[in-house]
Amino acid sequence: MNAPNKSGWKPQMNNALEVAEASGEIVTTTGNRALMLEEPLIFEFGHAETTGVDLPEIDASAPNRMGGFDRAEPIGLVGLTEPETVRHYTRLSRQNYGIDLGFFPLGSCTMKHNPRLNEKMARLPGFADIHPLAPQNSVQGALEVIYQLADWLKTLTGMPSVAMSPKAGAHGELCGILAIRAAHTAAGNPREVVLVPESAHGTNPATAAFAGYKVEDIPATAEGRVDVEALKARLGPDVAAVMITNPNTCGLFEKDFRTIADAVHEVGGYVYCDGANFNAIVGRVRPGDLGVDAMHINLHKTFSTPHGGGGPGSGPVVFSDALAPFAPLPFVRQYEDGAYEIVEEEAREVTRGQTFGRMTAFHGQMGMFTRALTYMLSHGADGLKQVAEDAVLNANYILRSLEDILHAPFADSGPCMHEALFGDKDFGGGLSTLDLAKGLIDEGYHPMTVYFPLVVHGAMLVEPTETESKASIDQFITAFRHVTERALAGDEALKQAPYFAPRRRLDETAAARKPKLAWEDPEA
Ligand SMILES: *Cc1c(COP(=O)(O)O)cnc(C)c1O
Repeated sequence: MNAPNKSGWKPQMNNALEVAEASGEIVTTTGNRALMLEEPLIFEFGHAETTGVDLPEIDASAPNRMGGFDRAEPIGLVGLTEPETVRHYTRLSRQNYGIDLGFFPLGSCTMKHNPRLNEKMARLPGFADIHPLAPQNSVQGALEVIYQLADWLKTLTGMPSVAMSPKAGAHGELCGILAIRAAHTAAGNPREVVLVPESAHGTNPATAAFAGYKVEDIPATAEGRVDVEALKARLGPDVAAVMITNPNTCGLFEKDFRTIADAVHEVGGYVYCDGANFNAIVGRVRPGDLGVDAMHINLHKTFSTPHGGGGPGSGPVVFSDALAPFAPLPFVRQYEDGAYEIVEEEAREVTRGQTFGRMTAFHGQMGMFTRALTYMLSHGADGLKQVAEDAVLNANYILRSLEDILHAPFADSGPCMHEALFGDKDFGGGLSTLDLAKGLIDEGYHPMTVYFPLVVHGAMLVEPTETESKASIDQFITAFRHVTERALAGDEALKQAPYFAPRRRLDETAAARKPKLAWEDPEA
C-alpha cells in the first residue's frame, strides 16, 4: 500500500525488500510481501485536509460561542478516511504477537492462555458498565465478586487478609513494603535495610528503594537458591524485611524458606514474598505456612487475566495477622444480612486505626477480578492444582530435552518449577544468546526471556504455558535445538536474524533509553 502523502513516504524501511534484494528474490514495487503488508506511521500517510466525518458547513452568521477560545492555528493532527483508519490499525495488529497466535515462552512473565469464558463474563453489563462511584446498593453483585475473589486468594495462600486495589505486581510490592514500613514505624522505628537476593526481579530492589530503604544483596548458592548462612549472618535490628521470590527467578523452589522466615522474625523483621510465580505452586503450597508476612499475586499471571503491552494488570497483596492492621483501604466486607459494603474510611475494628492509606483512588481492576474469579470457579481447587502441576511438567520436559546441548546451570538442583533456565556456552563465531533468540523469531517463535536472571551468563529463561500440548512443545524443542546447533556451529547468518519479521534488528538499547515518543516531521 502506497498512499500518496505530504512527506513522500516510501517503503524505505521495508525489511522484506532488503531480504529479497540480498537473496536475489523477487522485489515487489510496494515493499509488501505477499499478504503481509508494509505499514507507514499514521503521520506519514495522513493528510491535514482529510477527515473521516462529514459535518455541515459552519454558518458564518451564527454567533460565536467560543468565548474567546477560538482555535488560532491548526492542531497538527493528520486526517484519515474511515477505511484508511480501519486498515492502518488492522495491519498493525497483524504485526503483533500474542499468546492467541502461538507459543509464548517468555520466562518470568507467565503468558497464560486467556479462556474465552473469562472474557464473556467480564463483558456482562453488570460488571463492564458500572462506575466506581455508583451507589453501593446498585452494584452488590460486583462487590460480591471482589469479596469472593478475596476469599479464594486468602484460602489458596493460607493468609488472613488481602488488599485488592494494587494494579500490578510491582504496585503490590510497594503496597507490601509500605505496610511493613508502617508496622515498623508504629513500633517506633521504620528501620533502614531491605535484603534482596541477587537473583531477584528488578522490581524488588526498585520497590524497596522507592519506599526509602537501603537495598543489600544476598548471594545465591551454586545450586541457585538463597544462601541461608549468608542471609542469617547479615540479619540484625536494622533489617526491616527480606524480599524473596518463591519459586525464585532461577525457576527453583526455595526449600529453606521456613528457616529463612523464622530467622528474619527472630530479629523483628518481616518476610515479603514476591508471589509472581505462584502459578507454579498454586493448590500445592500455601505461602502462609512458610512464614510469609506479605505477598503479591499477579492475577494477570497466575489467574490468566490478559497482560502485556501495558494493559491492565492486578496485583492483590495477602497479609499475615501481624501486618493486616496496616493494610490499605478500601476493602469489601459482608454484613450478617448478606449485604456487601466497600469500606472507604478507617474501620477501627479491622485496622485498629493503623492503615497506611490507599494505593489507588478506587477498589482496583474490576475486569481483572471478574476474569480471575471466573478462572478459579471454572477450574475448582483441584483444577488449579493441576494447572501448577502441568506448568511444572512442561518446564521440566523442556529442561531435560535441551540440557544436553545448552548450558543448564541448575540441572542438578532437582526438578525445576514452571520455568527452565539455560545459559550460553560454547557458541561459535562470537554468537550470543541474542543471536539465538533472534533466530527463533525466524522459526516462528517469540523468544524466551534473555539475559535474566543476571546470575547466569547469557541467560535464557523458558516458561512454557501449561496449556501447551506435547506436540506443540515438541515442535518448539525441535526449533530450539536447530537454532542452538546453528549457534554452536558458529553459523554467521544468525547474526543478521531475524530475516522474516516485519522489522530486522533494532537498536534495543536506544529504544529503551532514548525512546522517541512523538513523531517529528523529517522536513521540519
Ligand atoms: C512479573 C513479575 C513482577 C512484576 O509484576 P508486574 O505485574 O509486571 O508489575 C515481579 N516479580 C516477578 C518475579 C515477576 O515475574
